[in-house]
Parts: sequence; structure tokens; C-alpha cells
Amino acid sequence: MQDVCKHCYGATGIHEAEKTIPDKVMEVILAEAKYIASSITITGGEPATFPHMTRRICNESGLPVFVMTNGMKLIEGITPASVLFSLDANDARPGINPDTILKNVLGYNCNLACNTVLTSDLDLLSYFEKMKALNKKLLSRGQHLREWKLGFVIDRGRATKHRNLFPDIDVVFKQLRQLLITYFEDPPFHLAIRGFLYTKFLTDAYLQSIKNFKLQEKRNPCLDCYGRGEILTVNTEGRVQMCTVHRTVSEPITDSLIDAVLKLLQRNEFTALTYRDWSECHSCRYWNICGGGCPSLAENYGGSWTGKDTFQCTIMGK
Ligand code: SF4
Ligand code: SF4
Repeated sequence: MQDVCKHCYGATGIHEAEKTIPDKVMEVILAEAKYIASSITITGGEPATFPHMTRRICNESGLPVFVMTNGMKLIEGITPASVLFSLDANDARPGINPDTILKNVLGYNCNLACNTVLTSDLDLLSYFEKMKALNKKLLSRGQHLREWKLGFVIDRGRATKHRNLFPDIDVVFKQLRQLLITYFEDPPFHLAIRGFLYTKFLTDAYLQSIKNFKLQEKRNPCLDCYGRGEILTVNTEGRVQMCTVHRTVSEPITDSLIDAVLKLLQRNEFTALTYRDWSECHSCRYWNICGGGCPSLAENYGGSWTGKDTFQCTIMGK
């Protein structure tokens, strides 16, 4: 199964695509997850690669389950709370027909959300038409498209080897402008646009920080990160991780998931760090907003844990 998107800019995640949580650990998770979580999200490696595991989590955990999938294969016998699927340009995943993906995900009979990354070949307006048609079908059966997230391919991770995927920025803006004009005539669903449109110039935090500048010396990017504070991640080795992307600070799940989480909460390798540890950012005026970015990404892109997250530097226009 083709389960790797060429445009992926991630440098983290699973190490062995064919591996998943050991059965013994899965039993523990199925027994205890309901006591410490309000929902479960199953994400990459592609859940359709592990249909048995995905079915067990959906059917036996007693929690609402969200599935993130590339949509290339329908996982039979599950009724998730919602499915987030990827619908990208053909050049990102060659040979993929977007209509097949849409047909597959409708097979889940639940609310859907869609993630689309703009690459060079994407005809945004025709994708918008597809999304509207999808939403119409969902509404006719009492469901809806929760969100259409649009992102932009950037020069990071695997994508660096596929520069032909990078869209012409003028074409993207032209298409985006047309999309927004059509969208706001009658917004059919929630639209989220991620990427370089979120610049420092658009954030309230930035405006606030230049009005009353006071260096936040205690700032630590992990302390207020959604990936750490709201989400508990179990990786393919059956360990609970401190955050969604960082694998090093983790604890094995043996007899009890709750015990593993309690042990993890006592670790403070990340969270005890402050401004003085991020020496490479000392000359940066965006520290209060950025706080060094994501340390795990900084490390994965070849730097150090407390080095600059150069992705963040790009977004900040540094
Ligand atoms: S390493 Fe990155 S993703 Fe993990 S908690 Fe810190 S900022 Fe968030
Ligand atoms: S923009 Fe770059 S240099 Fe500035 S705080 Fe963020 S990571 Fe550090």
C-alpha cells in the first residue's frame, strides 16, 4: 500500500511503517484508556495497514474514536466518531484518484474532516467543488464535513527531495483568492488555512508583544503546547510519549497504562528548560511568541533540542 506522501515535511513519527503496538500492550490500553482519556485518535502509520488493531480500538475501547487516514483503503467493520482524511494533489501520491478516496471515506458512515496540502498540480477550485459535493452527501444522511484544512507544501523533510511539487506562489494566491470569494458567498463548512498565511503580522500575540515588550524568561515552548498538554501519545513500540512527536521521553506500558502515565508525568526533561537554555534564540525578537519553536522538530532537522526550530524561523520571516 502506498502510504507515504511525498510532500510530507515531518521529520518525526513512526520509524518502522510495518510495526504497531504489541498485542499485550493493546489489551492494557483497551482496559484502561476509558479512565484517563475522553477519546482516542488513531493516526500514522496508516490505520488501514493495521485493520485488526483499528477495529479493536473502535469496537472495544468504549471511547469515541477519530481515525486519520490517507483514504486509500476502507477499514471494514468500524464506526468511528469521525474520520480525518487526506485529499492531496495527484502528484503528491502518484496514481491516486481523489474520487476513489472520497468514495472510500463515505463508506465510514460518520462525520468527516479533510486535510489537503497544496502542491504544484492542485486545482483548488475543482477540489472545492468536490468538498461541497461530499458535504451535500453527508448532510443528506445527517452528518457533515467538520472542516477542510488547507496547507502548503514547504521545503522540509521528505518534500525537499521533490521540489517539483512546490507550487508557484503566485498561482496559489490567485487560486486562494478565487476560492475565498466563492467560499464567503455561502460558506458550506469550516475552512482552515494553515501555513505561511499565519505570519507574525497577523497574530494578536505579536501585536501585544511589540506594544508591551517584556522578555518572557520562563517561556518554554512545550509548556503550552497542545501536543503535550492535551494529547497522550502511545507509539508503535507500546510506550507512552511525553508529546505527540518526541519519542525519547517515554515510558513503557507494561501491566498498567495509568502507571506508565504517572511515571511519565514525573519527568521534566523538556519542561524545566527556560530562555537561558535557548542560547541560539537570544538575539531573536520573536522569542515571546515563538519560544524556540518545537524542540523536537529542531532536533530532528539536524539541530539540537534547544537550538533554533528553523521551520519556525521561516514562518516568523527570520
Ligand atoms: S517537543 Fe514540540 S510537539 Fe512536543 S511538546 Fe514540545 S513543542 Fe510540543
Ligand atoms: S524564530 Fe527562530 S530564532 Fe526566533 S525564537 Fe523562534 S526558533 Fe528562535
